[in-house]
Amino acid sequence: MATAVSLPVPLPAAAAPGLYMHIPFCRYVCPYCDFNVYAGQGELIPAYVDALAAELALYADAYPNTRDAATIFIGGGTPSLLSPGQIERLIDAAASTVGVDGDAEVTMESNPDNLTVDYCRELLAAGVNRLSIGVQSLQSPGLKVLGRLHGAAGAAAAYHAARDAGFTNISLDFIYGWPDQTRAELDADVDTILEWDAEHVSLYALIVEQGTPLSTAVRRGQLLPVDDDTVASYYDHIVERLGGRYEHYEISNWARDANARSIHNQIYWQNGRYYGAGAGAHGFLGDTRMSNLRLPASYIESVHSGELPIAMTEEIDPELSASETLMLGLRLLRDGVSAVDFETRHGTSLQTRFGTLIDRFLALELLEFRAGRLRLTERGALVSNSILAEFLP
Ligand code: SF4
Repeated sequence: MATAVSLPVPLPAAAAPGLYMHIPFCRYVCPYCDFNVYAGQGELIPAYVDALAAELALYADAYPNTRDAATIFIGGGTPSLLSPGQIERLIDAAASTVGVDGDAEVTMESNPDNLTVDYCRELLAAGVNRLSIGVQSLQSPGLKVLGRLHGAAGAAAAYHAARDAGFTNISLDFIYGWPDQTRAELDADVDTILEWDAEHVSLYALIVEQGTPLSTAVRRGQLLPVDDDTVASYYDHIVERLGGRYEHYEISNWARDANARSIHNQIYWQNGRYYGAGAGAHGFLGDTRMSNLRLPASYIESVHSGELPIAMTEEIDPELSASETLMLGLRLLRDGVSAVDFETRHGTSLQTRFGTLIDRFLALELLEFRAGRLRLTERGALVSNSILAEFLP
């Protein structure tokens, strides 16, 4: 597998948290989606934006000594259902409550069918500096089986609208391994990725999640999922083809160079801290992981009663924290986990804590130690799920 070469880049302000804001509204719920999203509730958007701003103020009161956020990620759902004015309100509310670094990465997810040049220009003026576009596929059978509302021409128009508006940091989301996808269809999508040359690409294998309409169709035999061996061979093929142009820095993520990596997602993979605002959002502050009430109406009501709308918390003990640092860090194929940083952070060495397992995977050449960093090998990346699961306490 060929890969472009660049050095690991430390996060700016590594200890600063990220800020995730969840927009749980979609025009239509895609049949494969199991996110916390709702169609037909668009009339709640103005009250929801108010509630998000109020929740950020509650966070600022509850965590007064936290550093300013290094990143904002407005995800969904479909954030591009919000007006640029509403997006600006959220960014401004974050700056005036929890605080945001002046040079923060500010990402917004979008659906191709919402993007015009004017809309994108207004997003830039509102403070969004990185746009993530949910293309998923440009092949008609893929778009149909994934239940997407846009066509290939609409996705291309959206990408070029973002460029024409002046976005210089664009990420594309694609899905592969959808039912009946052929190698030729996969290649056609990869051809377009290479032709568009966006700064960043995420490619995820389709997962048939329980309880979704897609899983019902599979159970009834109406759709046949691509088998695991084919998905693995597709992944290998993608790695091979994108490697000449992109840095494969995380299992499912490629960046045109080290500066184009997602700073926000690297906070997750480095087991960093982040606020999670919005219905069903997950946060991690101090030693506590938390998740919010899922229903937008309940979330809005809770925030307006003056309480953080937290539904569940989990204290992360030192043992689990060490496992999480390793499991998440190994996803970073270039950086892996620094042995020195691990020991400084967790007060125990990688060898003391995980020696037997690490030695086993080193012997199998699924892990490697290079320049003081433990990483997945190329072969290890192909079976990463089973390797990472072994490090759970
Ligand atoms: S647009 Fe995205 S978030 Fe909304 S339903 Fe479809 S896949 Fe889920």
